Amino acid sequence: MAMAFDCRQCGRCCMHLGDYIEIEREVGPFEFTCCSVSSGTTFTARVDADKQDLFSDRTWIREHPAACPFLRPSGTRIVCTIHHTSPAQCKAYRCVIARIYSPDGVEMGYITGTRALHSSDPALRAAWDEVERAIAACPEDAESRIAPLLARRGYRCE
Ligand code: SF4
Ligand code: SF4
Repeated sequence: MAMAFDCRQCGRCCMHLGDYIEIEREVGPFEFTCCSVSSGTTFTARVDADKQDLFSDRTWIREHPAACPFLRPSGTRIVCTIHHTSPAQCKAYRCVIARIYSPDGVEMGYITGTRALHSSDPALRAAWDEVERAIAACPEDAESRIAPLLARRGYRCE
């Protein structure tokens, strides 16, 4: 089972995707034919019913031309306004799959959705090397085995 991913809706991952998610034409009210440039696929985007006012306000997106054209600020969050019809790669994206804590509860690093460790702690990096070796030897259910493998070294994953 994959680790739970809690998107904090910071918008960081979509801030530079304006060249990758292109609106080709408007085909109806709040409905657009779009191209997902990286995969070369087209998709129909419908602005979520509860985000149409957000989408209609173009102030922020004009100031952030590199951002995905469907990204908008909402209070302290920056949100996707086509959550229900966004392309598959957006739905699958997870920037962080686990945060790693020492036995006394200090965050020591995190693992991204591409399964890369981000940590400056040498002990954790050494433990992660072991995890990578174990996963390379047996790739099955890799993601669900990360937490138990790190637990052997006293780390806790959330
Ligand atoms: S996936 Fe990550 S970077 Fe993107 S909005 Fe969510 S928390 Fe932010
Ligand atoms: S469609 Fe939504 S999730 Fe995908 S890049 Fe644009 S704002 Fe981000």
